[in-house]
Amino acid sequence: MNCLLLEQGDGILVIDCGSSFPNDDRGIDLYHPDFAYLLERRELVRGIFLTHGHEDHIGGIPYLVKQLPVPIHGPPHALGLVRRRLIEHDIDPDDLSLNVAEAGERHAVGGFVVEPIRVAHSIVEASALCIETSLGTMVHTGDFTFDPDPPDGEPTDQRRLEQIGDGGVALLLSDSTNIDSVDRIGGERSVGAALERIVAESPARVVVALFASNIQRLMLLGDIAVSTHRRICLLGRSLEAQVEVATKIGRLHWPSDLLVAPDKVHSLPPRNVLVLAGGTQGEKNSAMVRLARGAHPKLELVPSDTVVFSSRAIPGNERLVQETQDAILRKGAMLRTMLSEPEVHTSGHASRSEQAWMLELLRPERFIPVHGTLRHMMRHAELARSFGVPHVQVTENGIPVSVTANGLALEQPVRWGKLAVSTSGEPLDAETLKRRGDIGRTGVAFVALALDARDRIVAGPSVSTVGVAGVDDDAKARSVVQRDVLQAVRRLRSTKVADLEEELRRVARRALLDLCGVRPVVKVEVLRSSEKS
Ligand SMILES: [Zn+2]
Ligand SMILES: [Zn+2]
Repeated sequence: MNCLLLEQGDGILVIDCGSSFPNDDRGIDLYHPDFAYLLERRELVRGIFLTHGHEDHIGGIPYLVKQLPVPIHGPPHALGLVRRRLIEHDIDPDDLSLNVAEAGERHAVGGFVVEPIRVAHSIVEASALCIETSLGTMVHTGDFTFDPDPPDGEPTDQRRLEQIGDGGVALLLSDSTNIDSVDRIGGERSVGAALERIVAESPARVVVALFASNIQRLMLLGDIAVSTHRRICLLGRSLEAQVEVATKIGRLHWPSDLLVAPDKVHSLPPRNVLVLAGGTQGEKNSAMVRLARGAHPKLELVPSDTVVFSSRAIPGNERLVQETQDAILRKGAMLRTMLSEPEVHTSGHASRSEQAWMLELLRPERFIPVHGTLRHMMRHAELARSFGVPHVQVTENGIPVSVTANGLALEQPVRWGKLAVSTSGEPLDAETLKRRGDIGRTGVAFVALALDARDRIVAGPSVSTVGVAGVDDDAKARSVVQRDVLQAVRRLRSTKVADLEEELRRVARRALLDLCGVRPVVKVEVLRSSEKS
């Protein structure tokens, strides 16, 4: 997730405010940045500028503006998505200042003047930001490619970038994440051509899994559906949302009768159906995973279906993607992915040669790589040095870089982090997450007993477990724990309740360790009556 602060004199400009997704199973809906640094300086924060509408650039906004309602600037598409997201969070978008920033316009935000410049990316209206600061011009590329012919007809504005380069660039911040690809292999249109071929030669239904936000690809798929006489069935809330917003702002022009509802698909011949599904990463409740597992309420995969993953597995998600694809194969459907057919997906991020071209156009005095792992950023830094950029600095989350007349320097770390939000919308602190992890690994045991005011046992001890292998279904095993607990209670008469609970917890854990070889999470509850009888 991306969230970068630019600070000068008495003003802070926030560039992007993203979220990220978990790849474990602890009930986390998403992560957003820890905003403590901003909240401590709230009167200095002048606004947020968005480069584009991807989740990793806008998903954190509701969590920030709930606490700090600052103006937001960005392209219409990104603002349309933000608006929707705010409403989902019960925030009235009209209570905030949302400012459309078109490419080429100049917007003063605090002491900064920001001009968005069009860049090609796997979404519409992506922009690099040219920012006038007290130290000169800075450029933040946002996510970009140099795809020469993107479906929306708006390639990266190389002329404007070159002009800015001619005027002198004090600092460049540029997207590093795709440095391992040497060159761009085809643009969005070549993906469109490959998809069109696959859809046209498929005799029955085709299901295409794609990143919901890839409006460029949705444009092409609309054309493909028309030319192959198919109607499109959208599966997944985020696809529906993306199509709705892109249509509303005039970026997607699908014929009004192109869409067919999932429960009406059965009334059409399979060769006239093109299903688009979210869930390329094997996300648990996504449409693709439900289809693969035969758990979708409206549609079922059949052997005549062709399923295309027009996507790649984001590092860390490989196992989930693999499991989903295996489940599809078990259904007997035909599977096509970029592993066997590289042309069914292309990255929205600059390859190394495109990153090099950006450096050549802008010829910056200083360079900081962004948006990648440390390894990506270090390789990108190496590339910048090889182009003779005088000052290059790699930094990581929470470590500010000061930009001075002499170059770049790392500062002391500031408070930073990522905060988890549960699937029910509640914040999840580190301790709760740790407990969820512990319970998942070992299971949990409950011990309960009641004492009267003279410490005679009036009920219990009861012992129950959930998810403790070898104990859950074994009353005899539990009675062993019960016996140890009982002995301890007799030994520990008239101890304070809290101390008694702690000691019993220790005793129960040791007994369970002997029984099953793990130390489950143990919760002990002692009730002591205050009434003398
Ligand atoms: Zn992006
Ligand atoms: Zn991104």
